[in-house]
Amino acid sequence: MTPEPITITIDGQQISVSPEVTLMQAIASIGQDTPVICFHEATTSEGLCRLCVVEVEGWRTLAPACVTKVADEMVLHTDSERVRRARRTILEMLSSAVDLSEAPAIQQQIDDYQADPERFPEAHRRTQPILDDNPFYVRDYEKCVLCWRCVQACGDDLQFTYALSLGGRGYETKIATFFNAPMPETTCVFCGNCVAVCPTNALKGKTEFYLDQGMDYDQIRLQRRRQQKSSSQDKKNG
Ligand code: SF4
Repeated sequence: MTPEPITITIDGQQISVSPEVTLMQAIASIGQDTPVICFHEATTSEGLCRLCVVEVEGWRTLAPACVTKVADEMVLHTDSERVRRARRTILEMLSSAVDLSEAPAIQQQIDDYQADPERFPEAHRRTQPILDDNPFYVRDYEKCVLCWRCVQACGDDLQFTYALSLGGRGYETKIATFFNAPMPETTCVFCGNCVAVCPTNALKGKTEFYLDQGMDYDQIRLQRRRQQKSSSQDKKNG
């Protein structure tokens, strides 16, 4: 049975919505976008990036719009100074630690919220070597915002292969394979779903990666042949 609609107010506009929708879905129903990084329509919302927070009257804390359900007579403010400040700070913290140079949507959000990427100059930048260990894609986790989309796409949301997981703790948390095994030694089937949902180009198809590095197709072919040869040699050597 379809539940009775409830009434909520968004930025002064009263609307009727199903009690089963999230705040983000309710906000979208009146044509408003909510800024977000970790949300992707193909993966389960986890409320990780917190960029989608909105103010709910009577609530002590801001509510992540992607995972919070509407409630009758809720009054939301999606663009108050408190909301804008929270979003701006999140973007500034991300900019201070992560290479966002290939994340155009986040760059746009930085502009929209007038975030200062230099606000935390002493912040410890996340540095990790580029992982180029398979014929299909390259992993550059200096660009990773830990949105978890790739892990979800690799797991229960799409592919059910579970090659990717979270590794490390606290500030050292990162996306990893189990025991940091090279990708060909994991359960990865190279479906490409993780690459498709990555919002920052931390995961990139190999040809695109090398074209971006300034190589041409001949150089890329040569590079691939060399890598294949060295990987077959490694296998032979056991
Ligand atoms: S690699 Fe990409 S999709 Fe995976 S957590 Fe990092 S930013 Fe998100």
